[in-house]
Amino acid sequence: MRSCTGCWASDKLHEECGVFGISLSPHDSYSVANETYLALFALQHRGQESSGIATSNDGKIHVIKKSGLVPEVFDERTLQSLQGNMAIGHVRYSSHSESSAINAQPLAVTHINGSMAIACNGTLVNGAKLRHDAELSGAIFQTTNDTEVIAYMLVRERLGTPLMEQAVKNIMSYVAGAYSMVIISGSKLIAARDPFGFKPLCMGMLGSSVVFASESCAFDAIGARFVRDVEPGEIIVAENGSVTSAMRSEWQARSSLCVFEFVYFARPDSVIDGLSVEHVRQEFGKYLAMRDNVKGDIVIGVPDSGLSAALGYSKQAGIPYGVGLVKNRYIGRTFIQNTQSQREKSVSIKLNALSAEVKGKRVIMVDDSIVRGTTCAHIVSILRQAGASEVHMRVSSPPFLHRCYYGTDIPREQDLIAHNHTVEQIAEMINVDTLMYLDERDLRHAMSGLRIGYCDACFTGNYPVRISSESENQKEGRIQV
Ligand code: SF4
Repeated sequence: MRSCTGCWASDKLHEECGVFGISLSPHDSYSVANETYLALFALQHRGQESSGIATSNDGKIHVIKKSGLVPEVFDERTLQSLQGNMAIGHVRYSSHSESSAINAQPLAVTHINGSMAIACNGTLVNGAKLRHDAELSGAIFQTTNDTEVIAYMLVRERLGTPLMEQAVKNIMSYVAGAYSMVIISGSKLIAARDPFGFKPLCMGMLGSSVVFASESCAFDAIGARFVRDVEPGEIIVAENGSVTSAMRSEWQARSSLCVFEFVYFARPDSVIDGLSVEHVRQEFGKYLAMRDNVKGDIVIGVPDSGLSAALGYSKQAGIPYGVGLVKNRYIGRTFIQNTQSQREKSVSIKLNALSAEVKGKRVIMVDDSIVRGTTCAHIVSILRQAGASEVHMRVSSPPFLHRCYYGTDIPREQDLIAHNHTVEQIAEMINVDTLMYLDERDLRHAMSGLRIGYCDACFTGNYPVRISSESENQKEGRIQV
């Protein structure tokens, strides 16, 4: 057997960010900072590197942001200092730009017509070029993230229009990539989703106040009511808790929500563009079971995102569902892995097998994806040490063959195990008895209830936005952005 080594974190995909915004109605008395804090808690799975909140009090913007989880950055005192009738919040994971406090969001900007704050979830395909062109004309940037490029473009467009929402619409014709953003400008809270709809964004009501969030689970956390998704290319303006206008960017294109929201990123209790994440994950498991004829005694899921697909598999196959792996929920991003030995132990520290459940059994183990293949070999060995007589791995997504240019931290093609190996070779490398991936056709069936189109380029190579050479260079690390 050839073995894979590595750490847990290196073999999982990462989402770039989560955003939230609230425009308070004069009829409500919520603390916008407190509501944002709670909502960011619910969105913490989308980014754990930094957290931030910006509030607007009579047009004066106040921001607190730092590296760290939401409860590490905010306490009662800091939240009390954030007063106002509007707020936006952000949790961040960095994909290609530097992971440092300076890149934390929201970003506050003062310009000739006033001030604004912006929080953005996404990555621009042409971000490096836009930045470079702006720098050639004298622009100075303080961060390395694309949000500052968007902020610069907005301020420049705002010089030619009295309306910030018109400036947003203008930049959407040439800012290419995946983004959902919330902006505080004057008395307005503006929410916008890129014309392809790569990143989710939805609108709700908290009392009479308007709220926006990357995922609907944030609304549940604060007791808000889901109203609808922001449409791809849509710009919604809320003012004093009322929606005052909505417009579409003129550049219409086929919508392309990132399918990985359903495979892995989003929380199962979220509903995105008409589809329940939990339902879709169970469907993935169901379709896996429908094409399978392996004999098993127990179906288990790899926590957390493999659990729902395992349940769907179990229901369809009529094989009992069990808890075979237990996750340590208290291991955070602070887990130090200085040495190779620590890195190799990280999976065992994060996951442990329940011997009483798997001993002597033919285990069907369901996980959401295999990226480099560095983690699954460890999980399989944990199960075998716990006494599993056979381990059959089922993956609730098709093989990863291509990189992502839209904000998901997928490695280079040569580092993707499925890009370089057959299914049989991978099975041997991770030491499973059999290995099966979700068929692309079944992924389509499971996603058929989605109101909009979706992107599956990391499986198919069909990229919805043309990839520029700058993006290629940026992904290769040849351009610092
Ligand atoms: S390439 Fe993959 S990860 Fe990137 S947006 Fe498309 S589906 Fe999502």
